[in-house]
Formats: sequence, C-alpha cells, structure tokens
Amino acid sequence: MDKPKIGTCWLDGCSGCHMSLLDADEAIIGVLKKADIVFGPLVDAQEWPVGVDVAVIEGAVSSQDDLKLARTARARSKVVVALGDCAVTGNVPSMRNGIPTRKLLERVFVEGSTEGRGVPTDGVPALLKQASPLQEAIKVDVHVPGCPPKPGAILQVLTDLLEGREPGLGGKLRFG
Ligand code: SF4
Repeated sequence: MDKPKIGTCWLDGCSGCHMSLLDADEAIIGVLKKADIVFGPLVDAQEWPVGVDVAVIEGAVSSQDDLKLARTARARSKVVVALGDCAVTGNVPSMRNGIPTRKLLERVFVEGSTEGRGVPTDGVPALLKQASPLQEAIKVDVHVPGCPPKPGAILQVLTDLLEGREPGLGGKLRFG
C-alpha cells in the first residue's frame, strides 16, 4: 500500500520553521517510515502534486506567487497545516502592512539602495497590498504557532495526522 504523502513549502517566511523540522534530527526518520515527502525544499519536484495528504505551509501570503502556491496546495491536499507564527498570524511579514506597497518598494530599492537604484519589474513576484495569515487566503485545518514551532510540536502534529488522530499540541503550544 502507498504511504501517505506530505508536501511542504514556504511562502513569505525565513525558512526557520523548516529548519525547526530539520532540527528534529533522527526523529524525522519516524515520520519518513510513515509517509513520503513529495514536495518541498528537499524534494526535486517542480509542481505541487495532486493527491497530497498533508500540506505543511510556512510563511504569510505576501505576493501573487504565494497566493497561487497556497491555492494550489489547498486544492491538491486533504489537510493543510499552517506552520509557524508567520502563517498563523502574519507575524514579521505583516509589519509592512501599514505602508503602501509602492512606498515600501521605493524605500527599499530606491532610497535604500546605493547602486542599481530602481524598483525591479522582472523576475520579482508582485506584492499583494497586505501580507496575510494563511487562513485569510485558504482554508486551514491545523494551526501550529511558534517562531519557530519547536521540532517536537511539528512532529507531534505530523504523527497525529498520519496516525489518524485529531492533532493536539497540549503542552507544546506556544507563540513567539
Ligand atoms: S514563524 Fe518565525 S521562524 Fe517561522 S518563518 Fe516566520 S519568522 Fe521564520
């Protein structure tokens, strides 16, 4: 029988939540015995596959590319997990939300640049007006807060989901 499939991605995040998963070290082997990771930074797949059982998504939704990937992951996955405070609340990426997008880009790429001044137009995803928590863009089934969440919390949620239990963080729940 095929093993359940896990996909992971990061949107507007620092990759710290994925690093926290890797910090689980050999405990990840227990997850890999139960499931295959079919999409993510460590997997050479170019497109989110159809038929994913658990989607683990880090980061806020800040750009058109983020929105597209979040919607694709939602449409092709049974369960979506918002991983970390950026995905759960908007956290650091949402600090820009009080600044109009144009002004923000000019501050960074024109006023804040000493050479090659100019807002890039090529190869840079278009920013959305606001950086939003994942749940404002797509339906989220499980929230795992923390900046980053502890490795044990991530493993607990994955193990619960893979073994058919309602995920429970219990004493592992934390923000920040
Ligand atoms: S929640 Fe913290 S560790 Fe995770 S992506 Fe956001 S800033 Fe990085």
